[in-house]
Amino acid sequence: MSAVEFGSASGLAGALTAVALVVVSAVVAFRALRTPAVVPAHADEQRFSALRAMRHVEDIARAPRPVGSAEHIRVRDHLVRKLSELGLSPEVQTAVGVNEVDGMERGTRFRSAGEARNVVAVVPGAEGAADRPAVLLVAHYDSVSSGPGANDNAAAVATLLETARALLAAPNPLRNDVILLFTDAEEVGQLGARAFADRHPLRKRVGVVLNFEARGSRGPVLMFETGPRNGRLVTALAGAVRPSYASSLFHEVYRRMPNLTDFGVFREKGLPGLNFAYIDGYQHYHSASDTPDNVSRSSLQHQGEHALGLARRLGDADLTGLASRGDSVFFRLPHGLARYPATWSLPLSLATVTLWATVVALSIVDSQVHAPSALLGALVGAAWLVAAVLTLGTLPRRIVARGPETTFHGHPRRGGPAYLVALVAATVGSYALLIQLLRPYLEISALAVGGTVWWVLLTLATARRLASANYLAQWPLLFAALGLAVLTLPPAAAESPTLVVAGLALGAVVPVHLLAPLVHLTFVGLLLKGSVAPTAVVGSLTLLLTPVLNVITLATGWALPIVAAATALVGFTIAGVSARPTTSTGRFQGVLYALDTDTGKALWATVDDDHHALDRSAGEVGRDRLREFLPHSLHHFRHVPAPALPLPGPTVTVVDDHRRGDHRHLQLTLSSPRGATDAVLVLSGARVLAYAVEKVPGPPQIPSDDDFSLWLHGIPTSGLRIDLVLRPDRPAVLRVVDRTPGLPESAPTAAPDPAPALGPGTACGATHVRATTRLQPTPPQEDAMPGFLDDDDTTLVCRVVVNDEEQYSIWPADRENPPGWRDSGFTGTRQECLAHIDRTWTDMRPGSLR
Ligand SMILES: [Zn+2]
Repeated sequence: MSAVEFGSASGLAGALTAVALVVVSAVVAFRALRTPAVVPAHADEQRFSALRAMRHVEDIARAPRPVGSAEHIRVRDHLVRKLSELGLSPEVQTAVGVNEVDGMERGTRFRSAGEARNVVAVVPGAEGAADRPAVLLVAHYDSVSSGPGANDNAAAVATLLETARALLAAPNPLRNDVILLFTDAEEVGQLGARAFADRHPLRKRVGVVLNFEARGSRGPVLMFETGPRNGRLVTALAGAVRPSYASSLFHEVYRRMPNLTDFGVFREKGLPGLNFAYIDGYQHYHSASDTPDNVSRSSLQHQGEHALGLARRLGDADLTGLASRGDSVFFRLPHGLARYPATWSLPLSLATVTLWATVVALSIVDSQVHAPSALLGALVGAAWLVAAVLTLGTLPRRIVARGPETTFHGHPRRGGPAYLVALVAATVGSYALLIQLLRPYLEISALAVGGTVWWVLLTLATARRLASANYLAQWPLLFAALGLAVLTLPPAAAESPTLVVAGLALGAVVPVHLLAPLVHLTFVGLLLKGSVAPTAVVGSLTLLLTPVLNVITLATGWALPIVAAATALVGFTIAGVSARPTTSTGRFQGVLYALDTDTGKALWATVDDDHHALDRSAGEVGRDRLREFLPHSLHHFRHVPAPALPLPGPTVTVVDDHRRGDHRHLQLTLSSPRGATDAVLVLSGARVLAYAVEKVPGPPQIPSDDDFSLWLHGIPTSGLRIDLVLRPDRPAVLRVVDRTPGLPESAPTAAPDPAPALGPGTACGATHVRATTRLQPTPPQEDAMPGFLDDDDTTLVCRVVVNDEEQYSIWPADRENPPGWRDSGFTGTRQECLAHIDRTWTDMRPGSLR
């Protein structure tokens, strides 16, 4: 044990100096998260103005524009007109896209298909540009049906329009062409991006892809994903745009995630590129409140400066061999983007750990720190970290998120900045308390050394396999080790206030600078439900700050834990109160109607925890994921029984069914008598080897015993052709659920929330009708007659009913007709009734429209 207590020589002045340095470091780091000043509409023509772009946002985001809606068509026409007004020659690419990505649940696949209509225009480059690779700017123009999508993604569409205008205002063209791609059907599975990347003639000319998105309404634009071998492109980013917040950590995380935006389609093709989004203000994401009023002009300005800055820089660069250099590690420093090859991570880590080991060994040899105490310090530090993450990372969230109406997309909404301040205060305060309690029993220098052991493990664990994220462990450890060296090695250190402050500053400033913004961004990015992650970052950083917290508690006693506890209490309380939605934050509720035409069972369902929405007097409340209607649902729906309305289910006609070798070929036509344009098809029991929609093949399949599901969009009234190649040896059951927006008109008045426009995706506020087709167990030999449905349902007696719109349906003969429906006079088996409807009902339109 050293004669003078570790760090005590600095006294109160030293403690204050150390705190000031840490605060300044954090403040400087947070400045990198600011968004730029908004450029006014009368500014120089060659600049990007968010206010000019806002006019486009207001034109586009008047109402939801899901694929196939009238608003969707209006916006597409509007885009074509605006591009023509700029003097460009836009074209609409109409093509079926078939896209497949990993599902949100491990091991699942999300397949979707349908017709997409992309709008494409080229800002021409200088002479000969047509022979050179071009810059591709991408933004999707469709929206979800639950909101007008001003941020997601009208703002990005406006960014492209304003960027094109500014490029055309320049006296000279760029060296390269700039292709503007306004993709369609992103929200239903990136079908437009897929159609462009697979089949548009311009796809072969793409040299680099820049995609723009939003998952919220404000905050800085983050560059969160890159294509492969990003070294040269990151250099271009650093040079083209006012230093922005970018981190190779995000790239490391995102390249392990399923494709969630259009960018994934291009990344998969191996194209170099960058993906941008702003993510704060999540409560507006995919909601009715995603309106132009809730678009941060400053975030839009930031997005525009990225789009225009990079279009200019890459538009004048030689794009050949852009992806010739490997991946970079990159992160924000006060004056720009630090970057170096990811291959340096391993040697840097080994050098850092060697330095750390030397410092620790010398301080043990010098008897500044005792080895057993340091080991105990490491165990105590690790135990505290685990305990802090498990309790503070979860408990306050559960309390704050309690109560009704706090769910959106099925998870608690985030509590805002007050929550984060409270979380940081609680974490740091609990560790300061630990230091105070342990001081009589454990040398704090040993706790400080022990706290770095966790960082050594982090550094070594990320050095190779997570090389792009390694900088977040290696650089903090390096500086912490240097700080410890100053604090423990020079013989006079313990008694020199200057040396103590220098050691504290050296060990704290860089770790705080690198990690503090990350605490904020992980909180904003992962939301309240993911608050374990920011807690782990704060906790790990706190371990490195042991020397600083030590001198503060030496000088101020119990003040720090007490102030921290009070701050946490106030912060969590504010967060708890503000997490309750008000009318301005929107209510996230909606109801769906689902009917199974095979069983005649129907239900009302909602994801809302506040089930005023459901009239529970109607029967028992069930709670499950409704996978029979929504195969990929991650949400838990509450549901109550509903009257079975005589809605006709989707129909599947087997056009061809034959066996060739050990392949069974099935050609189906799927249609919806209700006029639904969306449906999901689920095939159980058969192993699917290949599939195609409207003759456009999906990617090769790995045969699996799991259900095969396929989402279909834009189903024409004439039906959609689907081809399946299966293993022939198994009986297969085909279920189709079609969906139409809105609830059935004959919904009883007691029905929940008559106009629910909100909900996860299009599931709520929609009517879902399911029908089953049993495929023949043994397909006929090749050249046999087309197969027909198995009739294993001969016992049920049905009758055909008809409504005022002269639409037909079958109904169990032993039940009373549902309101609004009358007998048509035909009774028979299910098959006979269906055949009768086929013969009688030739015009699918409602009677009033014939
Ligand atoms: Zn989007």
